[in-house]
Amino acid sequence: MSQSHVCVTCGRPFPEGQGIIMSLAGRTLEFHSKACAYSFLRELVFSVPEDCVSSPLREIYEKHQEALEEMKKRAEKRI
Ligand SMILES: [Zn+2]
Repeated sequence: MSQSHVCVTCGRPFPEGQGIIMSLAGRTLEFHSKACAYSFLRELVFSVPEDCVSSPLREIYEKHQEALEEMKKRAEKRI
């Protein structure tokens, strides 16, 4: 029998290999679905003070913007 996990958002049990499992700040977070992960992480993000989140937010946002630019450039070269 495979080891089962329990979703921290809705309490639904789910088997190993399914759902989303991540470690954060010494805690293991287990979600049975993306929707449950989203609702938990959304609550987490909005409970963090804005001045703590603004710097990592800018970094991640810019990283994604750069990746999108890179993809755009590569698509243009192909044409
Ligand atoms: Zn769930």
